[in-house]
Amino acid sequence: MMAELYRELILDHNAAPRNFGAIDQPTHTADGNNPLCGDTLTLDLEVDDGVIRDLRFRGSGCAISTASSSLMTSALKGKTVGEAEALFASFHELVTSPERVPHLEERLGKLAALGGVREFPMRVKCATLAWHTLQAALNGSANATTE
Ligand code: ZN
Repeated sequence: MMAELYRELILDHNAAPRNFGAIDQPTHTADGNNPLCGDTLTLDLEVDDGVIRDLRFRGSGCAISTASSSLMTSALKGKTVGEAEALFASFHELVTSPERVPHLEERLGKLAALGGVREFPMRVKCATLAWHTLQAALNGSANATTE
């Protein structure tokens, strides 16, 4: 059952977040804030020659936002900035489309575990906070808010 697999993936990444912490000398950094839920995070990136060599996050948030940060940082390590932006576009479509989108789930792999938030509009911002923060960091702005 996909739904069960997805649920376990979210629980696992919330209980043991990957890439949690800070980078000593990040090339990019930004703070994210989702006032609706109270999720906050700081995201550090090390980008070299257009490739995301490392990325780490810290902060506190609900299970969805923590799992999303963990899954995002796992998915983006080693990707180019362009690939990361394309994944964000796909992810955003996945969590905001009214119905499941199988071809997006396939492209997004484990990130698709968060697709279920489409049924809970309040939680969409929890799931996209890490991505908005990533975008802020890459654009050189210090802060991202989901509002
Ligand atoms: Zn949240």
